[in-house]
Amino acid sequence: SKDIEVLRGHIRDIPDFPQKGIVFKDITPLLKDPETLILTSRLLLDPFKDEKVDLVAGIESRGFIFGTRLATDLNAGFVPVRKPNKLPAQKISVEYDLEYGTDQLEMHRDAISEGDRVIIHDDLMATGGSAKAAAELIKELGGVVIGYSFILELGFLNGRAKLEREIPVHSLIEI
Ligand code: IMP
Repeated sequence: SKDIEVLRGHIRDIPDFPQKGIVFKDITPLLKDPETLILTSRLLLDPFKDEKVDLVAGIESRGFIFGTRLATDLNAGFVPVRKPNKLPAQKISVEYDLEYGTDQLEMHRDAISEGDRVIIHDDLMATGGSAKAAAELIKELGGVVIGYSFILELGFLNGRAKLEREIPVHSLIEI
């Protein structure tokens, strides 16, 4: 649609970041423009607006930006999914594989109550490793993942294949 084309026009490619050979999708132009800033939050809300949602779990750090807005728009709370050693209280961790080595995500033990309905949000899904790890944390804490929300999805990496098939994945832009 026209809205999506407007968003696309506000995402730039940065070659060789953070490493040589990687083309980084940079959303800062989209954040800087007041019109695309509000448009993005409206479009992210659309697929979930009639759902009962308890929490939005945002993945560090760009998942915090629209994750909080999505939460307030849904009358839900916000919980952070963080990189290792950032959270101060009792927490659980999950390790997941990268192309070279492993990474880790953490959540507070009291972030989720049994049966909470949770949306996982991040700016971008690449391999799906982070989203899958976030889902594992939420389930371990007794939560129910009701959907995934991304601004961008690198479709050619097939991250969806890593996620449970019954849970809907909503990405505004597919690449
Ligand atoms: P995945 O775990 O491979 O799906 O990678 C997704 C995570 O890496 C997300 O937290 C993204 O914010 C980050 N990421 C990977 N590639 C990019 C990019 O090109 N632009 C912005 N974030 C990226």
